[in-house]
Amino acid sequence: MLKSLRLAALVSVITSLPFGLASAFAEPLKVVASFSIIEDFAKNVGGDRIEVTTLVGPDGDAHVYEPKPTDAMAMSKADVVLVNGLHFEGFLQRLVEASATKASIVELTKGVEPIKMKEEHEHAADDSHADHHHGDIDPHAFQSIANAKIYVKNIADAFCAADKEGCDAYKANAAAYTQKLTETEKDVKAAVASIPEDKRTIITSHDAFGYFEHEYGLTFLAPEGISTEAEASAADVAALIKQVREDKASAVFVENITNARLIEQIASETGLKVGGTLYSDALSPADGPASTYIDMMHHNVDTIKGAILGS
Ligand code: ZN
Repeated sequence: MLKSLRLAALVSVITSLPFGLASAFAEPLKVVASFSIIEDFAKNVGGDRIEVTTLVGPDGDAHVYEPKPTDAMAMSKADVVLVNGLHFEGFLQRLVEASATKASIVELTKGVEPIKMKEEHEHAADDSHADHHHGDIDPHAFQSIANAKIYVKNIADAFCAADKEGCDAYKANAAAYTQKLTETEKDVKAAVASIPEDKRTIITSHDAFGYFEHEYGLTFLAPEGISTEAEASAADVAALIKQVREDKASAVFVENITNARLIEQIASETGLKVGGTLYSDALSPADGPASTYIDMMHHNVDTIKGAILGS
């Protein structure tokens, strides 16, 4: 109580200072990013005007993440909380409540055209009477670079709302970064175009690449659905192996956030070779091949292309 009174007093002092003086004392905007990809976007837009705390770090799995006490602490101090939304962060609601944060929770998928989970999992779910909801929305919108640009615009808008003085800088940073995303988009499209059409079906662990598929025209099959929360059933795996044989999938990949065991089993049963690691729901650590979003998109498509074309 005392603390919040003091904070209120401090805020009123700062806001009543003359314009230039307030900025000289301005602290960085305290930003919480729910996972590593959003952290990277936020840093590109915010530069040194912001200080980011990330909840689910490199190689982390946001679907099954268990928040730590320090996460609640960061949330309670945050000015802006950036999340994916579309139920990607299953832990989020509990954490928001536990932290009693007053920050605005900004869902970066606002304005994205959502796509639904793949039908094969709906049918598999019917067969096994698994607990699945029809028409579940795929939350992995960031796997389309066109969508990444929407995330970036939403971040700039959120930072402008929280820090009006920085708005010109945020908008300029967002424009420069969006330009780099456009270049990356061209590279990804060119890489996919170089893969023969009849070789564009591949396998990963879970359905994280629906937006990539929709945008760039590869077909991804996976034993697990849009969340890693429920393990793939034997029926799911059998259905996938059958599909592999029918669709003549060209390659199989492990993901950085999931156990490789299931993919290795599918590889050995179908005779496909594991083509490498794709970064699905998290970036790599700083010394890895996908420590930024742009590096991740390049790494993924290059790994796919390399495995299929054998280069
Ligand atoms: Zn996922």
